[in-house]
Amino acid sequence: MQFITCSECSQSNPENSLYCSNCGAPLNTTVPKPEKYTGYYARVFNEFDNVGGEFKPTWNWWSLLFGPFWYLYKGIWLKGVILLVLPFTGFLAPFCWIYSGVCGNYDLYLLQVKNKQFW
Ligand SMILES: [Zn+2]
Repeated sequence: MQFITCSECSQSNPENSLYCSNCGAPLNTTVPKPEKYTGYYARVFNEFDNVGGEFKPTWNWWSLLFGPFWYLYKGIWLKGVILLVLPFTGFLAPFCWIYSGVCGNYDLYLLQVKNKQFW
């Protein structure tokens, strides 16, 4: 049987204990959070978390290239439909295009982390 030594009081605790039996200090401070996102999106989502979940411009080539289709593919259907329809009004097309590239990551963050389909 393995033991974990408490960093606070040096008490030996059974390896599966979460808190020290002597002083109650948490033992596994390195327990990883359940990782829902990996790779690229984990990094961008982290950046948003670091600014308190506020909008921060990022650049996503996929959402820029595929625009509304990327939105629909990612399940952000409400904004996807808006971005699909708006360019037909004419002058808004360039705006929608840039918007997809700069705000795509954040919109995905809003949906997956904040559970918000809309702004
Ligand atoms: Zn302890």
